[in-house]
Formats: sequence, structure tokens, C-alpha cells
Amino acid sequence: MNNVTALPSLFLSHGAPTLALADSPTGRFLDALGLALPRPRAIVVASAHMNAARPMLNANPAPATLHDFGGFPRELYALRYPAPGAPELALRAGTLLRGAGFDAATDATAPIDHGVWVPLRRMYPAADIPVVALSVNPARDAAWHAELGAALVPLRDEGVLVIGSGGFVHNLGALDWRGGDRPTAPWASGFADWMERHVAAGDVAAAQAWRTQAPQALSAHPTSEHLLPLFVAWGAAGGRGQRLHAAWELGTLALHAFRFDGAA
Ligand code: ZN
Repeated sequence: MNNVTALPSLFLSHGAPTLALADSPTGRFLDALGLALPRPRAIVVASAHMNAARPMLNANPAPATLHDFGGFPRELYALRYPAPGAPELALRAGTLLRGAGFDAATDATAPIDHGVWVPLRRMYPAADIPVVALSVNPARDAAWHAELGAALVPLRDEGVLVIGSGGFVHNLGALDWRGGDRPTAPWASGFADWMERHVAAGDVAAAQAWRTQAPQALSAHPTSEHLLPLFVAWGAAGGRGQRLHAAWELGTLALHAFRFDGAA
């Protein structure tokens, strides 16, 4: 695999599950992103919607599509994302994680949640690239998740695309459902600006202190599970992040995406 150029790692905001079908700026961004990147041989996705105390890797050779959301249009529940799993890659990632001191385990029967399949369905609609889902642990901090990602760095040289799937600003209780073009709430954009500044500077140490240092941190993320995948992706490459996409929906929901290449 030495002839394969290292792939970047990505942080993607998966928004609402309607992203799977909607003709939205973020949907079009993801459609184009899949075509723009070198084709990976497999994908590891750390998902905000897969939470476990110890790092869990989905080693199911044929994971089912989980519709882990309620109150959305019926056609979303009919969608399937039949990408194969990659049990050998799950085992390899587990070995890397255990080598870094994590008590990682695999699950050979788990489905894939919408944090995994919604963005992948846009990026790789043929569902022909094997996928391994990885859990996050909201009881652990950003630094722990950056270390989790750092253990996966070797996979990028092996043609594996590492993705963190969450939300750049994510407070479901603060969404504005009145429709139309709502201005972005200043507290939400203030948090996003703070985080983006540190991502662009490659200052992961500063960013990891977000809960105490970022403006309106607990409004932007009342719970941390949608931000933690950012740190997994960041750790999997290091360095500065490049913003690939920025979008706001429902007044406070940030759908930003970042790419990490390990550049200083
Ligand atoms: Zn989500």
C-alpha cells in the first residue's frame, strides 16, 4: 500500500437526516466532495450517534441501515445504505487503538446510524466502499478524542478515509423552525468563529478547552457528542484544518466541514 498517497481526514456536519435527500447547499457540497477526493479503499466514521464507554468499532460485514430519528418524512425511513462493512479493517483499527492505550472492542452485529450513512450516501451514492463506524464517548473530553484519532493516523497511508461526523454548532432545543432565511443567532456564530479560528491555526490545545474557553460553549453544544468527532478527525491528521464548507440552517445549526492533511 506504499504507492497510496495519504488521504486527508474530514470533519463533516450531518445536519438533519433530510440532508440525505434534500437539494441543499450542504447536500451539493457532499455530492461534489465524494467526487473530488481520491477514492478511498475503505472509510472509518466516528459518529456522534454511536456512543459507548469504550471505543467500539463496527465489524459487521453487512451492517443494516439504522433510522435513528423521529418525525421526518416517510421516504427517509425507506432509505438504505447497503455499503459493505470491513471486519478486517475494524480489527486493524482496534489493534491500533489498543496500542495507543484504548480499551477498544469490535461489534460484529451493529447497524450503521444516520451520522454514518447520511453523509456517505451523498458522497458515495453507489455504497460500494466498505465502512467501519467508530463510537465516541461524551463522558470523555476533546483531548481523549484527539488521541483516539491520532491512533488512526497510519490508516490514512493505507487508503482509508477517516471521517468525524457530527455538527459544528448543534443545539436541538435552539433550532428555529419558522422557515425562511433566518439570520444566524449571534451566539451560534460567535462560537463557530471561535472554534474555526483555532482549527485554522492548528491550535488543537486551545480548541480542546472549548467547554471553558469558547463563547457560548454550552449553548452551541449542550452535550458534546456532536463536537467530539471534530477532534477525532483532527487527531487523525493533526495540523491546521481547512474549511471546505460553511452553512447554517434553522438559525443555529452549523453544517460546516473541515479537512485535515497534517500540514503545519
Ligand atoms: Zn446528529
